[in-house]
Amino acid sequence: MGLIVQKFGGTSVKDRNRIFNVARIVANTRNAGNDVVVVVSAQGDTTDDLIQKAAEITSDPSHREMDMLLSTGEQISIALLTMALQELGVSAISLTGWQAGFATDRAYTKARIKRINTERLESELARNRVVVVAGFQGLNRSEDITTLGRGGSDTSAVALAAALHADRCQIFTDVEGVFTADPRKIPKATRLKEITFDEMLELASLGAQVLNNRSVELAKKYGVELEVLSSINPIPGTIVKEETKVEGMLIKGVAKDDHVAVISILEVPDVPGISFKVFSLLAQKNIDVDIILQSSGRGNNKDLIFTVPLGDAESALSVLNANKSRFGGDEIKVNKDCAKVSVVGAGMQSHPGVASTMFEALYNENINIHMISTSEIKISVIIDKADADKAVAAIHDAFIQ
Ligand code: ADP
Ligand code: ASP
Ligand code: MG
Repeated sequence: MGLIVQKFGGTSVKDRNRIFNVARIVANTRNAGNDVVVVVSAQGDTTDDLIQKAAEITSDPSHREMDMLLSTGEQISIALLTMALQELGVSAISLTGWQAGFATDRAYTKARIKRINTERLESELARNRVVVVAGFQGLNRSEDITTLGRGGSDTSAVALAAALHADRCQIFTDVEGVFTADPRKIPKATRLKEITFDEMLELASLGAQVLNNRSVELAKKYGVELEVLSSINPIPGTIVKEETKVEGMLIKGVAKDDHVAVISILEVPDVPGISFKVFSLLAQKNIDVDIILQSSGRGNNKDLIFTVPLGDAESALSVLNANKSRFGGDEIKVNKDCAKVSVVGAGMQSHPGVASTMFEALYNENINIHMISTSEIKISVIIDKADADKAVAAIHDAFIQ
């Protein structure tokens, strides 16, 4: 008995049958004597379809109106799931993100949760209702609807679990947990029983879609242990927590992100302040920069090369081109046909063989590496997008038996 937060992703609620399947999972949890708060995403491909609808109107939609549009997807799911629960005889009520008290910052389309006013939620729980909350959305100080970025329902669920001091936070999805690679692409991938917050944060940030990276960040910050499991196949999933038992496996997973772009600014002056000028422009536009490479000076010039999320490439280019006189340079180039492939596992720095094993696997497939970045817990390479799936399979084979 306790308070359980259960989150169900888009595939898990994609149609009538799946909605009733979810309603039965929730009803069973409820009937076992628990209080239940449910967070749901938009059904199936709804969010992608809404983005497409906006694209039919304009190539540059206002971010405020995008959030107004995208938030409707989750609103459909909460109403339908609540109806299904009521059909099963479970007392339930749906709440939008703002009704559930989600206050966010102003950053439309990638807002951050600032606080959750749980008063309404708690009063509904006190009335013995299951509360079904729309994920991915909140309200900013101007009382405008915001969304939390793709995959943001995971973050809504973890934030609620933290705010309500829930006893468990379960993330139900369409695979049976966190695997050593995307199980849909790599059939040999194996399910992990446990993974640490730090390792999961890297995997999520490096492209393993199964959990949104901000949700893992929050889970770590507030010590919310997560259970990732299937909404279809009722078997134990993966536990994400602070520390795991050492299993002797150094590499926890291989991840691919093919939504990256490489921007190269060629022949900038080799003087102090250039990086500051370039990256502060991008920071002002809220654009995350990941791998940064600077060539050593040739004569009086050097090249500055870095990656940004593919979706931000055009706005990065336009702000850099508009301010080019501030940092100089010859040419600004963008390459959108690349991908980032990474291996993740704690304690890599003390195992020098990891990098060479990874590079050997790529060499055996004749895959060229454009950029490399390493940390204590991961090694990432930027390669051609066309090589990415082959690279993941080869690296997975090299590390995981
Ligand atoms: P949901 O709609 O439930 O939020 P997502 O589509 O966002 O689900 O995430 C689940 C998907 O993540 C899986 O279907 C799988 O293809 C993909 N995935 C990528 N990497 C991994 C991994 N390492 N382990 C499990 N799933 C992964
Ligand atoms: N519906 C949103 C998306 O597709 C949020 C989510 O699924 O978590 O990104
Ligand atoms: Mg998701």
